[in-house]
Amino acid sequence: AKTLGKGQFQFYTESLNVAARERLALDSALRQAIEQDGLHVVYQPKVGAHGQLYGFEALVRWDSEAFGSVSPARFIPLAEENGLIGHLTWFVLRHACHQAATWRAQGHGHLRVAVNISPSLFREKDLAALVQSVLDAAGLPPENLELEITEGMLMGDVQRALAVLKELKAMGVFIAIDDFGTGYSSLAYLKRFPIDILKVDRSFVMECDLGNEAVAITRAIVSLAHSLNLRVVAEGVETASQLAVLNALGCEEFQGYLFAKPLPGPEAAAFLDAAPAA
Ligand code: C2E
Ligand code: CA
Ligand code: CA
Ligand code: CA
Repeated sequence: AKTLGKGQFQFYTESLNVAARERLALDSALRQAIEQDGLHVVYQPKVGAHGQLYGFEALVRWDSEAFGSVSPARFIPLAEENGLIGHLTWFVLRHACHQAATWRAQGHGHLRVAVNISPSLFREKDLAALVQSVLDAAGLPPENLELEITEGMLMGDVQRALAVLKELKAMGVFIAIDDFGTGYSSLAYLKRFPIDILKVDRSFVMECDLGNEAVAITRAIVSLAHSLNLRVVAEGVETASQLAVLNALGCEEFQGYLFAKPLPGPEAAAFLDAAPAA
């Protein structure tokens, strides 16, 4: 082990304590926010090349009194560690399904609402039953719901994850692989798993206006997806030239700041009213 000077060591433990204390405070604030409806859900449009609207991705937001607006990139991993992720997901799922049911009742029956599902939830045996109960309560048909999962669900019990996925698929829910290309990048499971949609990670999308070399990987991903009959969504599209390249590669759906940031419910409804028919 590395030998640290006495002063350094003290500094190290002190900053550890500060971090641990802050984490504990954040933890209990998050717990409270989940219990007391202190979270809310925003919706980012997924559109076609001509602006036609296919659906929205539901993204959770937390404006904490003590911590201000906390990024999900920070509190989702926390919720996964402290066991709150199930409650959090249930919250987002309920809100998203209720929102989609409302839009459906207003004549937008083709829209899909996508909810992010943490890999750890695939190890719970009742995920499919839980999703079904939320759909039932909202009166939402399963084809209006999409679940975004990452390659991380392949960690650990693959058989279990596969069984749950098949159950969800049999219910009629759409399954998307999120952040594709950043994790395992194992192509074999794409064929083995009942997946409908592939989301190309923003890190590839970002490079799409930089020239041929950067585009090559994305082209390969899109053509692989299409050969497996998957629909391709490009996420994090920020510029018109990225859109032009991705459209030429054959991506079906686009999501990103070029079109809209994640929007609160009423603003999402206004976006919906303004969008050309899909
Ligand atoms: P993600 O699932 O990949 O979600 C996309 C993230 O990219 C969102 O960040 C979104 O606001 C952001 N984004 C969208 N378009 C653009 C763009 O054009 N440029 C840039 N720079 N960013 C863009 P957000 O909302 O901060 O979420 C971060 C991550 O937190 C998500 O990544 C997801 O992994 C997780 N997350 C968010 N909401 C939930 C949730 O309800 N449940 C779970 N399990 N995870 C969630
Ligand atoms: Ca996502
Ligand atoms: Ca993503
Ligand atoms: Ca991403």
